[in-house]
Amino acid sequence: MRGLYIHIPFCKSICSYCDFTKRLGDNLIYEKYINRLIEEIDSYKNELVNIKTVYIGGGTPNVLPLDLLEKLFIKIKPYLDNSIENSIELNPELITRDLAKLLNKYKFNRVSLGVETIDPNAIKLLNRHHTKQDIYNSFRYLKDNNITNINCDLIFGIPYTSLNTLKNDLDFIIHQEPTHISCYSLIIENKTILKHKIDKGEITPLDDDLISDMYDYINDKLKSYGYNHYEISNYAITNHESIHNKIYWTENEYVGVGAGASGFINNIRYDNNKRLKAYFEAFRENTYELSSLDKKKEFMMLGLRLIKGVSMIDYKNMFNSSMLDDFKDEINKLLKKNLLEIVGNNIRIPYDKLFLANIVWEEFV
Ligand code: SF4
Repeated sequence: MRGLYIHIPFCKSICSYCDFTKRLGDNLIYEKYINRLIEEIDSYKNELVNIKTVYIGGGTPNVLPLDLLEKLFIKIKPYLDNSIENSIELNPELITRDLAKLLNKYKFNRVSLGVETIDPNAIKLLNRHHTKQDIYNSFRYLKDNNITNINCDLIFGIPYTSLNTLKNDLDFIIHQEPTHISCYSLIIENKTILKHKIDKGEITPLDDDLISDMYDYINDKLKSYGYNHYEISNYAITNHESIHNKIYWTENEYVGVGAGASGFINNIRYDNNKRLKAYFEAFRENTYELSSLDKKKEFMMLGLRLIKGVSMIDYKNMFNSSMLDDFKDEINKLLKKNLLEIVGNNIRIPYDKLFLANIVWEEFV
């Protein structure tokens, strides 16, 4: 199974916590970028076969005007027509009826909405600008255009929020009946506005114990509403897990295009140039071939993000060797600390230890 990932690195404004590849833009630069993207897509004619998922992420793809989005959709139409999941990330603030109509026309069947929170103070602290009404409208426009497979991103652990803020956010999101919810604890990344303000003492981060309580609250609440916790940050109703993301987590191949995108094809992993100027001159920044050991480690690290863990049978089929032999020391150490457990043919992180997942992943770096 192969996926196609397309990165749109532009945003309407810059969120205080964001360290992704993104920048502000204007119509001139948007057009130049789409033309460059199309050149890059053309350069992968031989690799773009058997594409099962298309994912347009950002940045904020819907900061682009509709005519430029359509230019891109026309280019990738053969893949949109034949893949099983076509997703796009959207900022609810910028969703219109016409956009929803366009997405339906090009067979997009999954949308990921950046809801993050509905608390006005938290929205302000994150330097986001949407309202509850934007989110209501987004659901209405999408559903009116037969796009019902909708993910909502939620951020918890925002400074000055409480369990009550989280309860309100979750109640609101659940009420919209999304098929999928991704919940991320706010990470204070270096070189972000938020980190700068924290370092200056202008903002106090939330207490770790409260963040851990929030994670437990999310797990309990979403489970009680029928959302299956299938990956460390992801919850879905039955049969609505993200197929595209599973490509990443299970070591399948994907072509990544756009500034700052990564890809994995024919055993080669690559990263594109992040800076637009460099991307306009050359697509790729790094290319490296994965050794057998690299692939095995990635299989472990990515697979242990899934709640069901990694399958020893899949590992044997993929590498023709035994997981328990290849990672004997690492696995034994983690089993002794109760940070891994063996259930049938799978090895996984025990559910009550998921908050320590970082310690487990580090063993396989
Ligand atoms: S919309 Fe997304 S990519 Fe853009 S600044 Fe905010 S978090 Fe970053």
